[in-house]
Amino acid sequence: MCSFWQESAQVTQADILTQLAHALQRTPEEEFVLKIFTSGSFLDEREITAESRRAIAKMVREKAGLRKLIIETRPEFVTPTKLEDFTGSAELELAIGLETADEFIRSSYINKGFTFAEYQQAAETALDCDATVKTYLLLKPPWVSEKRAIEDVISSAERASRYSATISLNLCNIQKHTPLETLWRQGYYRPPWLWSALEALSAIAKRDLVVMSDPVGAGYRRGPHNCGICDRAITAAIKRFNITQDVRVLVRLDELECACKDVWHVLMDRDAFLFGSRPYLEGKVNKRARELVE
Ligand SMILES: [Zn+2]
Repeated sequence: MCSFWQESAQVTQADILTQLAHALQRTPEEEFVLKIFTSGSFLDEREITAESRRAIAKMVREKAGLRKLIIETRPEFVTPTKLEDFTGSAELELAIGLETADEFIRSSYINKGFTFAEYQQAAETALDCDATVKTYLLLKPPWVSEKRAIEDVISSAERASRYSATISLNLCNIQKHTPLETLWRQGYYRPPWLWSALEALSAIAKRDLVVMSDPVGAGYRRGPHNCGICDRAITAAIKRFNITQDVRVLVRLDELECACKDVWHVLMDRDAFLFGSRPYLEGKVNKRARELVE
């Protein structure tokens, strides 16, 4: 589902430092948070060399008003030595794309290439070095049903909550020239419903976790969407929720009447039946229906 590899440019380490210096010149007077999102791993020395990392740490340390620095990285690159470069400067937050706490979904469906244990170890290293962790979760990877996808992010948020100051819920969307696009074109994938995003966000928020979601491509066929009529109202509510963390903003949407919600409810009710999955076979429906599926 990821298309970042198509967007990579050949930049030198000097280019990166120049870009950052330029950006830092244009920051406001008041306190601010700096996010350096490399669409890769900031702590991977093939992307940002040790020398550049230390130069960046120095720039961050010397920048007045900089309250917090957020960088993205895969867990295998997190070491105490690298994080120590940032001591004595702004708060440091590591954003890690765990995607799901489910080992099978992460390895087989997302092809992520690391285990939950590796994530845990990286997060513990971060916490030991007084950094915080933001964990990205992915709502609805391919081959996971709508309902299982919701359950998966809720249980993943619970498992990641021990380590995470923030959970960031990414709603899967279809980018060009990806295997996911092929599945979608063949009718084997539909991006998550916005009702599902609401359900997941409220369930996670009710567990007293800080959760946010940037609904990229919401309301479009390639992005998370409902019927086209109610999409805009829901997207606006998610954006309001990100800022306020007030779960009532989402709950109030329960009162939003839209015909597509009934369709989504039917989908939820029939999910196990349609997929013939374990909860179904474990007897949540009547015997005759079970015989039919088996
Ligand atoms: Zn609708």
